[in-house]
Amino acid sequence: MVIVGNDPATVEADLVERRLMCPDCLSALVPWGFARERVLKDGLVLRQRRSICPEESCGKTHVLLPEDCLARRHYRAEVIGEVLQDVFVGHKSFEDVARLAGVPPDTVFDWLRCFRRNAVVIARHFARWLAALLPGRALPERRGPAAVHALEMIGAAAKAASLSLRTRPPWSWASKMSGGWLLSNTRSPWPLPD
Ligand SMILES: [Zn+2]
Repeated sequence: MVIVGNDPATVEADLVERRLMCPDCLSALVPWGFARERVLKDGLVLRQRRSICPEESCGKTHVLLPEDCLARRHYRAEVIGEVLQDVFVGHKSFEDVARLAGVPPDTVFDWLRCFRRNAVVIARHFARWLAALLPGRALPERRGPAAVHALEMIGAAAKAASLSLRTRPPWSWASKMSGGWLLSNTRSPWPLPD
């Protein structure tokens, strides 16, 4: 999985001109067909590009996922992020948030459970991003529940990345910085504890 921009034409040009790198060995990826089409709940059709690493010792294939999406989630990252924010920071009930967002309550419940379960490692992961992007700056201290702190760290890291690298919406940065696996039930992109 490699997170790329939202414009398919730009992604295609980057892939063909070998500007996208294999996350495992940093070789330039080459085109490798398409993954099965996915339709998100808001109607966005994703015809996901696949790529392969030409390096003989690696040879891994990678799906290219647009940055406003998360792996294996059927809603855009921004919708998911706003739901997390409204429940954990806004203290709204998940049933109300689900209704207002037009998302089934079971789906929202799963997002909340997954985020809460990984909140400590998520906060640590984004703290590392923040420290790398703004070296020497003091990191925000945890003042409340782990999930709230994790959201603060995501927000701070995304802001730092938009300032230092290029402007993207915060939840696109969250997707990019977690390799698309921010809310995964089956795979952990998080480093082992120090
Ligand atoms: Zn590789």
